[in-house]
Amino acid sequence: MEKVNLKALSEGEVKSFMSGLGLPTFRARQLLHWMYERRAFSIEDITEFSRELRESLGEKAFISNLETVDRQTANDGTEKFLFRLEDRELIESVLIPDAERLTLCISSQVGCAMDCGFCLTGRGGLKRNLKAHEIADQVIAAGRAVAPRYINNIVLMGMGEPLYNLDEVSEALWRITGLMKYSTRRVTVSTCGVADKMLELPLKAPPVNLAVSLNATTDEVRSRIMPINRRFPLKVLLEACRKYPLQRRRRITFEYVMIEHLNDNPEDAERLVKIARQVPSKINLIPFNEVEGAKFKSPSEGRVNAFQEILQRAGVTALIRKSKGTEIFAACGQLSARAGAYFSS
Ligand code: SAH
Repeated sequence: MEKVNLKALSEGEVKSFMSGLGLPTFRARQLLHWMYERRAFSIEDITEFSRELRESLGEKAFISNLETVDRQTANDGTEKFLFRLEDRELIESVLIPDAERLTLCISSQVGCAMDCGFCLTGRGGLKRNLKAHEIADQVIAAGRAVAPRYINNIVLMGMGEPLYNLDEVSEALWRITGLMKYSTRRVTVSTCGVADKMLELPLKAPPVNLAVSLNATTDEVRSRIMPINRRFPLKVLLEACRKYPLQRRRRITFEYVMIEHLNDNPEDAERLVKIARQVPSKINLIPFNEVEGAKFKSPSEGRVNAFQEILQRAGVTALIRKSKGTEIFAACGQLSARAGAYFSS
């Protein structure tokens, strides 16, 4: 009989699996605690279980882990993890430190089907969706690597479009917030603007934060750099944002990748003010990170600052997010499953 991968089971499934073996409920709770909070590699590591219990459980089940293939650190402290999955596909996660916090940026798919013009991940297309445990395991594997430091924030802003893998992403979010005990305020799902799925998210997943990669203020420009806009134009996207059921005192984050002379003009800033006023929101300005073979340029610091000023003077919260970890190919839009691109650094 094939062994059961305990990581591939939901909380409820772990509980029924354990009770099916005739074990009391507290054993299932212990198992979940050891897998998700103590990050046990194997059943053998669960020293709270007797040797007999570990042996009998080990005959029927096992705990899977991501294989860490590489870990690189940039001068600014950003770290990139390259993980290999069971079918040998590769995914990346990025750890971003700031003054007091560690933020982990995780992937939801191998590759991406969205094909945004400025992003490297989309170039190779979509390979496959990640399973819930492959998503949650990025937090476990990176958590082991940085211990005793603790990962404070989790953002689904790595490879892939989370809302096109909604079921597995939702299940991963339940494990991250429930079993790993992350506050929903510390977890953010980022979407390129899949308007219909955006409204499904809060029905399936815990109430985590939502970020929307806006990146343009007219359909003409947005459709040019983000094909998803042809399906869900700005009007539809913004309507979904207005309908989105926000928790008390929370806001949607609009990410805005700034590209020279394409979307960084004063008129764009003025349109962005109008958009921001329609939705409880804040804006993250991300100067375009010039990925290999890019047709676009990053605006000068002066243009970025002038853009921010227009927003701020209108009372719109807007922060400038500098690209980090560029020299290890860990910055926004640089993540790619192609080992070639990775190891060419
Ligand atoms: N599919 C999701 C999450 C992955 S992209 C989404 O679209 O939100 C995460 C963020 O990186 C997005 O806001 C995207 O606009 C940004 N990004 C992609 N390529 C970039 C680049 N070359 N420079 C700066 N930001 C980039």
